[in-house]
Amino acid sequence: SHEAHTASHPTVVVVGSGPIGSAYARVLVETLPEAHVVMFEAGPQLTAIPGESVRNIPDPEEKERARELSQGPQAGALRESLGIPAGVVVEGMFTARQGTHLLDFGGEGSGHAPGFPAGAASTNVGGMGAHWTCATPSPAFSEKIPFIADDEWDDLLAVAKDLLHVQDAAFADSAVGEGIRSLLEEEFGAELPEGYGPGTLPVAGDPQPDGTMRWAGADVVLGPLVDAASPLSERFELHDLSLVRRVEVEDGRATGVTVEDLRTHEIRFVPADLVVVAADAFRTPQLLWASGIRPSALGHYLTEHHVVITTIAVDAGKIGRFATDADLEAEIARRSVNPVDPVAAVNRIPFSEPDHPFSLQVMYAENPPFQLDPAHPAAGNRWGYVNMGYGVRKRPRVEDGVTFDDGELDYRGFPNMTIEYELTDAENTEIEAATERLRRAGSAIGEFVAEPRLLPNGSSLHYMGTTRIGETDDGTSVADPWSRVWGVDGLVVGGNGVIPTANTMNPTLMSVAVAVRGARKAAEELS
Ligand code: FAD
Repeated sequence: SHEAHTASHPTVVVVGSGPIGSAYARVLVETLPEAHVVMFEAGPQLTAIPGESVRNIPDPEEKERARELSQGPQAGALRESLGIPAGVVVEGMFTARQGTHLLDFGGEGSGHAPGFPAGAASTNVGGMGAHWTCATPSPAFSEKIPFIADDEWDDLLAVAKDLLHVQDAAFADSAVGEGIRSLLEEEFGAELPEGYGPGTLPVAGDPQPDGTMRWAGADVVLGPLVDAASPLSERFELHDLSLVRRVEVEDGRATGVTVEDLRTHEIRFVPADLVVVAADAFRTPQLLWASGIRPSALGHYLTEHHVVITTIAVDAGKIGRFATDADLEAEIARRSVNPVDPVAAVNRIPFSEPDHPFSLQVMYAENPPFQLDPAHPAAGNRWGYVNMGYGVRKRPRVEDGVTFDDGELDYRGFPNMTIEYELTDAENTEIEAATERLRRAGSAIGEFVAEPRLLPNGSSLHYMGTTRIGETDDGTSVADPWSRVWGVDGLVVGGNGVIPTANTMNPTLMSVAVAVRGARKAAEELS
């Protein structure tokens, strides 16, 4: 039913329904009055409004089920069909975060990632954006992409913030949150440049009148496209449980995709004037590889940010200089309005150069994120707990990345992944410095209930660089500055994989901004 239309009625196929595919769909439908966008998503739709954050689901059992459904090969039915016993995936040093599945899950058809054991993905409408923490800082200093001019970048970020419903001052009215900022300011303020001290962490969501937050997902990025009352929704189709198996290329131009309906196993070709692949930082290069599109940088230059974390019981004496008992009572009352979502305040110290190449994220909550022994002296701490972590950057290197084996298929029938990844002196030195700062930050706020520790590689869930954009086709990038794959017309890549720089921050806002740039350029070409 989807004939590729004439140039004035272009059809765009988007692969992947996370925030980035959704940003492409939104900008293209809004910019091109005749365009039709067809989005394919391998996973199931979880919520009535497609792509909504599962954190907004009030019923705990329903929330649990939505998370389970997102876990691809580690979800019940598929896991069983692969013969992976339920226990196996939750044993061992770490488990996948709720709503995600490990790339190296250990069953038949599992990827191989000995150096990147916590690497994970989500497979559901909305992608990881249905499960994310919604932190949306902007890149700064060398994190920014050097070949995008500042004026344009500021405009792209503003559009990306609108698309994601970003709040710069979330929970700013929390007195305890402000007390935590004051303690961090006392400890670090003098060492940090003006404008880069402790502050609130921007988050994507809409504050509700009762003080709670409606967290944003791909739903808000799609906006009018999934609102039946909007005429724009007539030019958008979303197909869940639809796995794109190949991008078809003829004479150097993408002509459409071959897609499998996972309900019926029917396979069909869908022609398109433009194909956007936004299928995450591992499955985007995998799909390109499977399609015979193999620029030499594909899958390489993998980065993330390493995380050193700790948990602190807030000390009454320390915080008491900035917040009163009445402030705490007000805080507890506010939190009880929405007990299933206990985040009470989100603070940070952003990346700055040259002296603070880290980003510190500071989450304040009523309980520690793990079961604390009731006999622990800090158990049941009335002032609550701070869970915080320093993000540390990874320098891009060609050796780090994912390769694909045509001779070994994964559980979906794609060339299987092997991820190779190592920390070098550059990272280890900064990890040490970050750990020392974490000790200072913790001591400033209260008592340690968990020792600072480095999380295993892959834990950030922010995987970058594998389809990086670059200024020239010199073998160190996969796509041009507008995310158009080198050497293939009509094919664009999106997602954190496009980011070529070393980053400490949560990358989704940045990737949406890069997507807006790519979508604008694509619209110009299609119109
Ligand atoms: P994804 O959201 O991963 O979506 C890709 C989609 O493509 C998936 O649904 C997948 O099923 C689909 N797909 C893959 N292959 C195919 C195929 N062949 N055919 C059809 N569909 C396919 N980021 C932040 O910036 N801040 C945070 O605070 C933050 N916290 C996070 C917390 C958690 C628990 C998690 C899981 C993630 C977090 N992230 C955070 C990461 C953030 O969610 C991602 O950066 C973002 O979702 C990336 O968007 P995307 O559209 O590129 O990819």
